[in-house]
Amino acid sequence: MVVSGIQPSGTLHLGNYFGAIRQHIELHDKHPSYYFIVNYHALTSLHDRAALRSYSLDVALDYLALGFNPKLSSLFLQSDVPQVTELAWIFATLTPVSQLEKAVAFKDKVAQGLSANAGLFTYPILQAADILVYGGTLVPVGADQKQNIEITRDTASKFNNTFCSDDAPLFPIPDPLILDSVSVVPGIDGRKMSKSYGNTIGIFDEGAALKKKVMGIVTDSKGLDEPKDPDSCNVFALIKLFADDATRDRIAEAYRSGGYGYGHAKKELLGMIDDHFGEARERRRDLATRPDYVIDVLREGAKAAGLRAEEYMHRVRDVTGLITTGSVTSESTQH
Ligand code: ADP
Repeated sequence: MVVSGIQPSGTLHLGNYFGAIRQHIELHDKHPSYYFIVNYHALTSLHDRAALRSYSLDVALDYLALGFNPKLSSLFLQSDVPQVTELAWIFATLTPVSQLEKAVAFKDKVAQGLSANAGLFTYPILQAADILVYGGTLVPVGADQKQNIEITRDTASKFNNTFCSDDAPLFPIPDPLILDSVSVVPGIDGRKMSKSYGNTIGIFDEGAALKKKVMGIVTDSKGLDEPKDPDSCNVFALIKLFADDATRDRIAEAYRSGGYGYGHAKKELLGMIDDHFGEARERRRDLATRPDYVIDVLREGAKAAGLRAEEYMHRVRDVTGLITTGSVTSESTQH
């Protein structure tokens, strides 16, 4: 079972697309997968009702528009399967604080200006629950997320060792599926593209708004006639993501020989973005007129996922001794 979360904490951008989403779409029809929109995670950095609601539904629209087929894999909202937070609590009681203190992702996010709340600190625990509550075995992630999957693997082992006999472990130990993604997609200011930096180009930006962003990509100040270095240029770094080999080589050559300005490169990039996402934009416009269909997709996805999660949680409550009045009889309490 392949499982992966997508955070609805902002508008999805080209960094997310080339770093993760494109690979999710490629994978979802080869392996039966659960893709969930992690709105509990988004609450660690977003306390705005209207924004959280609209970003959550936007992620669903974006994935469906980009080619996610809900007949082949499931797409659903994390909050439709609340068992995940129950499991996260149980995992929290097994997780050493020192392990969380070493998490690089937490330090990075705080350095980017996010508030260091306990939810952000314990994020890897909820992530472990996200994966293990469905018995996930394979987790597609960018290289930046590898450490969090290590925490999930440790958590699964620790739970099994603590509560299960050696021959009947409850949780499989999942493996990361490190995505063959580009290392870092630069934003329009040349830093890593990230919603925290306000330097993103949205996947579904178009028209004047898209043009303004592309034309605003930071370059050096070399004049039209001067030879330029494609490898240190932010515009070329983005062109490389879209262009086929021949186009990429032609443009690199034009950079080196001079007579080709950054304005030319930006125009070519704009055309490539329009071509690449043209059909997806059409589909997204259509989907936006059918919100009931989108909700149905999410509801159906959650149904299957919820059943699977409850099966795991039933066993988890049993082996940990978490009785509920619905699960015990006077006879069974004597043991
Ligand atoms: P943001 O930095 O905008 O908050 P996220 O942390 O939500 O983005 O990113 C989700 C995933 O998208 C990351 O795990 C990574 O795989 C991918 N990703 C995000 N930004 C980039 C980028 N600039 N370059 C490459 N991949 C990225």
